Amino acid sequence: MSEPSILVLGAGPAGATTALGLRRMGYAVTVVSDWRRFAAVEGVSQRVLEGLRHAGLGAALAEATTPATRQVHWNGERLQPNQEWLLDRQRFDQALRDDLNRAGVELVEGRVREVEQGQGYRVQLDDGRALHGDFLVEARGRQAPLSEGRLRGPETVSLLNLWQAEPGTLASAVESLDDGWAWMARLADGRCYWQVTLDVMAARLPGKTALPEYCAGRRRGSALVAQLFGEQAFAPAQVHARSSTAILVGNCAGPDWLRVGDAAMAVDPLSGNGIFQSLSSALQAPVVINTLLQRPGQAALAQRFHQTRIEQLFLRFARIGRDFYAQEAQRGTQPFWARRRGWPDAQPLHAAANWQAVRVEPRPVLRDGWVEEAEVVVTADQPLGVWHLQGVELAPVVRGLQAGIGLERLVTQAHQPMVERWLREQGF
Ligand SMILES: Cc1cc2nc3c(=O)[nH]c(=O)nc-3n(C[C@H](O)[C@H](O)[C@H](O)COP(=O)(O)OP(=O)(O)OC[C@H]3O[C@@H](n4cnc5c(N)ncnc54)[C@H](O)[C@@H]3O)c2cc1C
Repeated sequence: MSEPSILVLGAGPAGATTALGLRRMGYAVTVVSDWRRFAAVEGVSQRVLEGLRHAGLGAALAEATTPATRQVHWNGERLQPNQEWLLDRQRFDQALRDDLNRAGVELVEGRVREVEQGQGYRVQLDDGRALHGDFLVEARGRQAPLSEGRLRGPETVSLLNLWQAEPGTLASAVESLDDGWAWMARLADGRCYWQVTLDVMAARLPGKTALPEYCAGRRRGSALVAQLFGEQAFAPAQVHARSSTAILVGNCAGPDWLRVGDAAMAVDPLSGNGIFQSLSSALQAPVVINTLLQRPGQAALAQRFHQTRIEQLFLRFARIGRDFYAQEAQRGTQPFWARRRGWPDAQPLHAAANWQAVRVEPRPVLRDGWVEEAEVVVTADQPLGVWHLQGVELAPVVRGLQAGIGLERLVTQAHQPMVERWLREQGF
């Protein structure tokens, strides 16, 4: 039998990471992607840089050169400034493709019009070309056709504004507003970026042609904008409107397809974690796909692994966003804030420790390039289970303790302090 061919739709961080991982496993991968049709700047944290390094995306990583100091004005207070790396998304997306080319991944530039499923997949492009593959990875980001959205946050829109100023130092800032929040950044080459995020139902937006003046008017009222950019920011700029509603797709895996990145779960940009979550879902995807293709008997397990991890990741970021919105106490009753401070639920980000609820259960894990079942320790805070703690398998330890065996007989002396600490955190 010939090697299965894999088609990846979309060359953003999720598609590129998945394709590169599959290529390293020896699979024939073709990535088909259009270019992003608007300019954008995005801020990422240190762990995104680690994720890019881990994925082997060296050229993309090189796009993040120096961190910017980010000012945060929230709930009427100036919070401690923090750091973020600013990415020019057009250059970053180009660098992702350079990484793919260097790794020998076949890259087709084009826009996907239709995907037909029969004997494998037939992908029809706008220019008349057609591609075929046995396995399909959907990584077209928010533009991927939506199946039933399992969970959708309050409808949200972001207005991206871009203008050119004199070169200067990198800087970024975020501020809360009565009806939303604004993120702004200045790149070293003088490109300036201001993005306001609003509630679709509550915002009274003018027509498209009046948006540049509407946004400029809003900037004129901000002391932070004046401080970061000067008066040049008060003139109308180029505007692009984007949906930024948080969406978790109901079904992210099938026997011969997988959704990764924003195509599986798109988070609220407030979390600043979009690229991080895209990398997270894509880094695990090659092993899931390998299992689906080579061990069909384990297909259900592999799908469950992918689906549950996507859902857990989404809920974690949704709750982080909720708690950050809830910090804006002064504006809590305004429609934008009121709709977000209670979504997606009232569950705390971290469940309280409870040793009585700790149990050992079989769950899918990643082992040596496959999704397999292993005994893991399930806790209130880790419903997917913990398998290892820095190389120490936890299920035998918990079973032993529950049977009354002393910890000194279950782990080596060297590992005892670390395991004891973990046990205390679980309420032992
Ligand atoms: C307003 C806003 C602000 C954001 N700010 C940040 C931020 O500051 N920090 C952060 O980490 N994240 C941010 N994000 C999130 C981040 O942009 C995404 O999470 C991330 O890019 C998702 O990666 P991806 O690979 O899944 O999809 P994408 O990066 O969207 O890549 C999808 C690729 O598929 C291509 N494509 C789409 N349709 C087709 C088609 N029909 N045919 C062929 N190709 C196609 C696109 O051109 C693109 O290249 C923001 C998102 C929004 C909406």
